[in-house]
Amino acid sequence: MADYQYDLFVIGAGSGGVRAARVAADLGARVAIAEERYLGGACVNVGCVPKKLFVYAARFAEDFRLAAGYGWRPGRPGFAWPTLLANKNREIGRLNEVYRKLLEQAGVAILSGRAGLIDAHTVSVNAEPVTAERILIATGGRPNVPDIPGRRHIISSDEAFFLNELPETIIIVGGGYIAVEFAGIFNGLGVATTLIYRGPLFLRGFDHELREQLAAEMRQKGITLRFETVVTRIDRDGDRLTATLADGQRQGAGRIMYATGRKPNTDGLGLDKAGVGLDADNAIIVNERYQTSVPSIYALGDVTNRVNLTPVALAEGMALARHLYAGAPLTLGYDNIPTCVFSQPSLAAVGLTEAEARREYAAIAVYKSCFKPMRLALSDSTEKTLLKLIVDRASDRVIGAHMLGPEAGEIVQGIAIAIKAGATKRDFDATIGIHPTTAEEFVTLRKPFA
Ligand code: FAD
Repeated sequence: MADYQYDLFVIGAGSGGVRAARVAADLGARVAIAEERYLGGACVNVGCVPKKLFVYAARFAEDFRLAAGYGWRPGRPGFAWPTLLANKNREIGRLNEVYRKLLEQAGVAILSGRAGLIDAHTVSVNAEPVTAERILIATGGRPNVPDIPGRRHIISSDEAFFLNELPETIIIVGGGYIAVEFAGIFNGLGVATTLIYRGPLFLRGFDHELREQLAAEMRQKGITLRFETVVTRIDRDGDRLTATLADGQRQGAGRIMYATGRKPNTDGLGLDKAGVGLDADNAIIVNERYQTSVPSIYALGDVTNRVNLTPVALAEGMALARHLYAGAPLTLGYDNIPTCVFSQPSLAAVGLTEAEARREYAAIAVYKSCFKPMRLALSDSTEKTLLKLIVDRASDRVIGAHMLGPEAGEIVQGIAIAIKAGATKRDFDATIGIHPTTAEEFVTLRKPFA
């Protein structure tokens, strides 16, 4: 056997790469990891973590208003963006160090710098060749901003996490979860927010009814939603940006943010030199064992552009490391992956939407509940929480659960275990609720919706 410097060389210290490196090293492999920007990858630095901190910050605006109904006279709260930014950056710095320690404690060699492939067993880091029996590419993705006139004036989510100051107005272009979440964040922080999306309704792939309800709630909170239009150009005049829409209308804003998808980080990695195959979107093609077209080179996480979520990248990293260094079977299932949009209110789902279930099953039952959550009872808020369960009539199995409302992610995570375990509607009915909660509605839905 050739004498390699490492058993495993991981390119990219994000969610998937760090997990694979740590688990492999814990199992006795000699592992090195290269990272060009920040330990923890997108999730820790420009994704899930800072996003959720911003969502928490934005939610206070409404909490202060609700507090009045409960007798509090909080005065006129002020908001200091620089404080939020500094505290967020400190927390991210702390997490970067946690990641460093975890890797060091596992005995993983950390190499700072950009890595690229030289051949099937060699990478270069800062122009130094390093050899490994196996190479894992976990380089994630980056924002995809279209090439329109004035593109240089656009920010993506990467920059939105580090703005020097909050604009008074913002236009967010996109219809995916990042666009919707940032619309809620900026609106909550007092920025006049417009979301522009080329399709008829945002959040394609989620249950239609919840998407409609969320659009109504966002409008109610003061966000302007403009569907079925696109920005054709952006002009700058001093601090002021102007977006021109397809119909010729012009709209001004302090900032224009694009959240129009992400593309896999495969440029300049030397994939062609090593012979690693890509699909039409430049994502690395892998088989069910995360192996690329070159057997000693593996890939997982967002760079494979399949299910682009942190828990999926983590699970893939762990599964691959255990498979390679402990002989464990690769049993990761990609069905029933729960997911949450941290909008305001939040939207979470697991399993099939009503439309998908109607296509895939001969007969389904749909159970629904739409109500004003108790927390809002002492306010004039008209916000509604909407829950849906989709049941296969033949087997009585629950095949989809959907929720729009406060803490939907926290609630649907629990429901996902039941669905993954194959729970039937009878199992849900036999479960005693926790009263008074929103979640109890999931076990008290008695009559299918006509
Ligand atoms: P990453 O975590 O992106 O890590 C890739 C790493 O590789 C990076 O650190 C990069 O610097 C490094 N790298 C790239 N090229 C090289 C190179 N040539 N040499 C050395 N290093 C390199 N997911 C959720 O589950 N929940 C959420 O709420 C959520 N919110 C998100 C919000 C936003 C705004 C964004 C952008 C993403 C969000 N995600 C969320 C998605 C999640 O962040 C990704 O799915 C996850 O980070 C993918 O992990 P990964 O290991 O594939 O890649």
